Amino acid sequence: MSESKTEIKIGDVETFSIVDFPSHIAVVAFLQGCPWRCPFCYNASLQPLKNTDESIWTADKFFKFIEKRKGMLDAVVFSGGEPLVQEGLYNAVQKAKDMGYMVGLHTGGYRPEHLRKVLPLLDWVGLDIKGPKAKYKALTGGFDAFDAMGKSLDLLLQSGIHFECRTTCDPRELTVDDLFELGAFLKNKGVKEYYLQKYRPIESDKSTTDTVCESLISDEKLISFLSGAFEKFEVRR
Ligand code: SF4
Repeated sequence: MSESKTEIKIGDVETFSIVDFPSHIAVVAFLQGCPWRCPFCYNASLQPLKNTDESIWTADKFFKFIEKRKGMLDAVVFSGGEPLVQEGLYNAVQKAKDMGYMVGLHTGGYRPEHLRKVLPLLDWVGLDIKGPKAKYKALTGGFDAFDAMGKSLDLLLQSGIHFECRTTCDPRELTVDDLFELGAFLKNKGVKEYYLQKYRPIESDKSTTDTVCESLISDEKLISFLSGAFEKFEVRR
């Protein structure tokens, strides 16, 4: 089957979600492709861009599905992988908007120039912040990605769009001091919503225990600082 250059490649779909777009019932399309290699990645199978014929979710099938679900779902979220990798994202977002859906994006801020193009169509963004600048390279598997994330964050702040920042707290990579530093950075930037996400050890990680994961996100001074720094702050477990 021939493939359009602007057709999105979908790895998987969550057909009903109440946690991926605040206050909305969403369908989530997990797009293929991510250049980064975060050590805590839950979706490593989505990192390579594969042939769409290998996926049970073609773009055509996805849009037919959401057409039928109008009235039962009110939002479409493009997640990944890293959705900004795919050139077809803009057209896909536009198509979902044309169907009457609210549209959200989960991203690490890769390719801010692509985010700039898509941003006017979006209703909400979840921006993953991997950690403080000095650790970004390790946290993305060897990429100097902090500046790209920073530019994307600035675009979101300037846009006035509703967005949140969130950090997966992998104790193999991050310390309480790192989370203090990151929180101060985001507060100074003017971020209003920030969430710490508990790391649940991936299959290949045999060294981390739940107790260690829990202790990183339970430091009382850290939680007190972050609670005061943002209009909305929570620990997601
Ligand atoms: S950015 Fe997301 S999809 Fe890409 S490697 Fe990191 S966690 Fe995995």
